[in-house]
Amino acid sequence: MKFDRLRLTGFKSFCEPAELDILPGLTGIVGPNGCGKSNVLEALRWVMGASSAKALRAGGMEDVIFGGSGTKDRPGRPGRAWAEVTLSLANEEGDAPAGWPEALREQPRLEVSRRITRRGEGAASTFRVNGREVRARDVQILFADAATGASAAGLVRQGQVSELIAAKPENRRRLLEEAAGITGLHARRHEAELR
Ligand code: ATP
Ligand code: MG
Repeated sequence: MKFDRLRLTGFKSFCEPAELDILPGLTGIVGPNGCGKSNVLEALRWVMGASSAKALRAGGMEDVIFGGSGTKDRPGRPGRAWAEVTLSLANEEGDAPAGWPEALREQPRLEVSRRITRRGEGAASTFRVNGREVRARDVQILFADAATGASAAGLVRQGQVSELIAAKPENRRRLLEEAAGITGLHARRHEAELR
């Protein structure tokens, strides 16, 4: 299974729709400071169900919506009312995680999307998998099973390495559990206990 495309519309600095193909091999994102490199990784985390606005450098979740550009002296683009990120996953090899529902494991391609709309107070997100609305929890579990969730160790934030050195043992344990591939198991057990 492979991430092969990321589409962003109205997410953080991406006012206009942007589509990034993720080709095989190593991908580098380069550009001057503040051009949006970290925003791309945050979009990836967000579509996988990230629930902490703080981890996305946002005060509230609605802050991930393009808020307008320009200054008092130099007017720019107006803010947007919504943001959407879609992640395409190729499953042509049929090697989707064993924990996934059979119906999803059979799909050659999965499109996972998250959309947030500004509301009077706060904002609400809608998640879809191949067009069908699902819960945030469902998306989080999908990616936890794939050992690549929103808080997975595969994504290292700027400054995270030094945080890790100073981390408490229980937080470091989470990393080891993920490396062992049991994060999805934990998530599904917790879900079962709630029912
Ligand atoms: P560096 O090289 O310094 O790490 P970077 O390429 O990672 O920079 P980002 O942190 O991804 O840059 O992008 C920062 C830019 O995104 C800033 O210009 C900021 O104003 C813009 N930005 C963040 N959130 C929003 C938003 N909601 N609306 C509009 N612009 C935003
Ligand atoms: Mg950055």
